Amino acid sequence: MNDHEKVAIVTGGARGIGREIVIRLLEMGMTVVAVDLQADLLARLPQDLGAPEGKLDCRKLDVTDSEAFTALVGDVVEKYGHLDVLVNNAGITRDGLLMRMTDENWELVLKVNLTSAFIGTRAAAKFMVQQRGGSIINMSSYSGLEGNRGQANYSTSKAGLLGLTKTTAKELASKSVRCNAVAPGFIQTEMTEVLPQQAKDMAMAQIPLQRFGKPRDIANAVAFLASEDSSYITGQVLSVDGGMHT
Ligand code: NAD
Repeated sequence: MNDHEKVAIVTGGARGIGREIVIRLLEMGMTVVAVDLQADLLARLPQDLGAPEGKLDCRKLDVTDSEAFTALVGDVVEKYGHLDVLVNNAGITRDGLLMRMTDENWELVLKVNLTSAFIGTRAAAKFMVQQRGGSIINMSSYSGLEGNRGQANYSTSKAGLLGLTKTTAKELASKSVRCNAVAPGFIQTEMTEVLPQQAKDMAMAQIPLQRFGKPRDIANAVAFLASEDSSYITGQVLSVDGGMHT
């Protein structure tokens, strides 16, 4: 299928990296369903992005709600006739040192970052397998590859996504459904804006390319993995981190 005919779902699409992915896929001519918890941001999105009529479909959804997320995937297939790309991008942090981390913050981060991707993947796979094609992209992190002080919950969720990615790739490859992960380094968004200056300085010192990433850097990698240009690539982790992870 030509990229401009594709239908994509992007979770966490209302701001930050997800918003830029929505913009990038729209630029490729795709029909994009932007999913997010934040109804106010979603409501402004079509006008802010100047999306062509009928190309951007905004849906308020909590991706941890298994029933609602599964129903949304089914609804998208019913409305558009197919689903070609799923980007599991929604994510949160609840940082804290391991010895002080609460059960609640452990479970919440695992649920939002990892379990939601399983729910979305399971729902999308059902249709993608039938239509003999699709690309699922999971938003992992440098923290998932390397671990990170203060992020036991987050690193574990992002490492878990790599297992989900590789297993999904192996299970669905015979039906031409691909699954890959992107592992961003330090990207300038509202998620990282709140970090103390000391943490930002320490991060910068580790980046060989000596700049923080922009949401566009990640959106470009996602666009590639969503496109036919990557049709022979599955089960891979693409680091987009200025050279931190080699
Ligand atoms: P962000 O906080 O700016 O955006 C995340 C979006 O996800 C928000 O719009 C939020 O409302 C949405 N969201 C959160 N929980 C949700 C839920 N339960 N249901 C639906 N939507 C929900 O974050 P970002 O920096 O754009 O990060 C996007 C992804 O990239 C995340 O998975 C994050 O872990 C990952 N990542 C970010 C960085 C970075 O440096 N910013 C680095 C590595 C990985």
